[in-house]
Amino acid sequence: MTVRAHLAQAASGVLTWGLRHIARRPAANLPGIVGLALDPRLIADLRERIREGSVVVVGTNGKTTVTNLIADVMERAGRSVVCNRTGANLKSGVASALLHTRGADWGVIECDELWSAKVLPDLRPTYMVLLNLFRDQLDRCGEIDRIQDAIVAGLVASPETALIYNADDPLCEMVARRVAAGRAEGGEGGTPGPASVPFGVSGCMNLVQNVVADATMCQACSHMLDYEYRQYGQLGAYACPHCGFTRSPLAFQAEDVRLDARSLTFTIHDTGTVQMSRISAKLAGSYMVYNLTAVFAACVSCGCTPDEVQEAVAAFNPKNGRLQEYCVDGRRTLLNLAKNPTGFNQNLRIVGADGGPRVVAFFINSRDVDGHDISWIWDIDFEELLAQPNIQAVFAGGERRNDLQVRLKHAGVEAQLTDGIQDVFARVREMPNVAPDAAVYAIANYTALPPVHAALDRMAAAEPTCPLPQLTQLTQGTVPCVDPGTQGAVPCAHAVRIVHMLPDLLNLYGDGGNVRILANRLAWRGVPVEVREVRYGEDAHLEDADLVFIGGSPDREQRLASQQLGQMRDELAAYVEADGPVLAICGGYQMLGRTWLLDGEEVPGLGILPIETRRPGTSADRLVDDIALETDLAELPVIGYENHAGRTVLDAGVQPFGRVVSRTGSGNGAPAEGGPAADGVRFRNVVGTYLHGPLLAKNPDVADWLLARALERRAVRTGAPSPSLAPLDDAPERAANAFMAHKLIP
Ligand code: GLN
Repeated sequence: MTVRAHLAQAASGVLTWGLRHIARRPAANLPGIVGLALDPRLIADLRERIREGSVVVVGTNGKTTVTNLIADVMERAGRSVVCNRTGANLKSGVASALLHTRGADWGVIECDELWSAKVLPDLRPTYMVLLNLFRDQLDRCGEIDRIQDAIVAGLVASPETALIYNADDPLCEMVARRVAAGRAEGGEGGTPGPASVPFGVSGCMNLVQNVVADATMCQACSHMLDYEYRQYGQLGAYACPHCGFTRSPLAFQAEDVRLDARSLTFTIHDTGTVQMSRISAKLAGSYMVYNLTAVFAACVSCGCTPDEVQEAVAAFNPKNGRLQEYCVDGRRTLLNLAKNPTGFNQNLRIVGADGGPRVVAFFINSRDVDGHDISWIWDIDFEELLAQPNIQAVFAGGERRNDLQVRLKHAGVEAQLTDGIQDVFARVREMPNVAPDAAVYAIANYTALPPVHAALDRMAAAEPTCPLPQLTQLTQGTVPCVDPGTQGAVPCAHAVRIVHMLPDLLNLYGDGGNVRILANRLAWRGVPVEVREVRYGEDAHLEDADLVFIGGSPDREQRLASQQLGQMRDELAAYVEADGPVLAICGGYQMLGRTWLLDGEEVPGLGILPIETRRPGTSADRLVDDIALETDLAELPVIGYENHAGRTVLDAGVQPFGRVVSRTGSGNGAPAEGGPAADGVRFRNVVGTYLHGPLLAKNPDVADWLLARALERRAVRTGAPSPSLAPLDDAPERAANAFMAHKLIP
């Protein structure tokens, strides 16, 4: 060990003792932070403590569960293991785990995706397991491509590491290909490195499909992917009709999957040895099929036996709030973490698979580690809750409970605000419509989880386990796998027509929620409304449109969308000239201008708005923050969230959408001549803005301004009278607005 590493070890010893005995806190990060300050190469200096090899686990969802399970299997196989079991997965967490061990046979290390670029070259693991890549914490990561870049860089700089990856995810498949190409090109002598190990599920699991998919495009050639079937999110059997990009032949293949509300079983086919192993688990959730296949692939690659994997899986009893079961007040209670739309949707499936009486409580915070932006809650298919029988109460908790309540209101779910899980149990006790044996499902994101976890631990400590009620109904495995189609309202001759442009490409940060909000605010007033989605390859037909919505997207999707919008340019321009109302967010706003930039390349825009978008740096130089505006379209401040690389300049005399009044947020970008920052544009009846959120969630005045213009247009188009918009009860929206306005505006 180097002198610096000795120093770091000594400091870690003192800190760990102090944290555990005086502060009574786990020493999961601080020893690593201090250690790395003393020895920046600490991980490399300590890696010799791991004698046989190590496995690093990355991926958006499932890291902690998979890491713990791999460590369990290894221990069952008689190996000593160093593992950051609690999920401290930044460089400091990895360093802390190494500081806490004197030596171990294997390292099993959970690692944050962005940090893998720094950890891999130092740790040089034998394997990296890549589980999946979903949109998550985009305020920290920017766009999903950046996460891929980090993982590829880490693997190219650690050429001896073999990649075990989920080939059903086209984003992971692309990482594998880029790593192979990067290594062949010259990473350390141009050696190809060990072969990668693709795993996946063979055959459709017949799950209900979600509305938003994180990756619809082929990253090899930027065309739309075709799916034979989809499991969930972008996972499935995909192929690009243009360039042939498809998943690699699977080395470990899950087959014959059977799921119910509390357990799952499937066969894993090791296609190398042609061995078949049956895996059964008392765990719910189709995503666990992928997690367990990843565990199997990693452990068998490391020399463990299939029996050791099955034994560890059967004994797995998570105590960390992930799929943790309790008995409280005689009610079966399940706590789980969910921190992004895909994870949340999987949780809703677990709730849905239990047909008995249920209560559901959601807890959402927006602190640093959660991500400040919570617009992703609009990408969760809460609408599914409505379709589920026997849900007897729904609660919205956590610091962002007001936002959650608004989101649920738009899904047709009346959620009650709650202070915490104890309050949920107390209230449920008093509610005559809630059955005494109704199960409770608590779903929380990162920082919202520990208080719920601690409270449930306390409440359950005094109780024996609950008898398991009979399952009344299973809803899994009943729906054919098809691409999610349009879920528009019933057509009606005089319906207000809202056209949602390219929802399959332009669907970032809950932007589609704006369309839901517009449609609901008409429907709640008894005005017939029809939403028409114009998907990639379809024509717009704006002649009978009353309102057009265009959302934002990552650069890659924006590029393809702009080609398609270019074909509709004249139709869109005529619609705008005729005072047709448009709401365009971020990428959608940029494309309506004369030009926008894609990493230095100038892309022609539609030239409908008198604006231009520039980009001072790369896609990584982003304006990402909470933002509030003052506009003359709304009485309340307009609250949203921005995340973009482009900076937009308006022609002289053109009116912005609003003036930035918050401490944070830049809108169009810092004005060249100084002075207050402004956001977006107002041009005829077009509102262009950088605000996601979705914009209209907390800003009902802006929604109603657009709807009033849409009704005027319908009057001209059909001769139907243009009714005035009756007031609605916007108390939840106003509360959500006030909460953020108080935080943001000095
Ligand atoms: N890709 C564009 C940018 O980064 C727009 C991003 C967005 O719509 N959020 O500027």
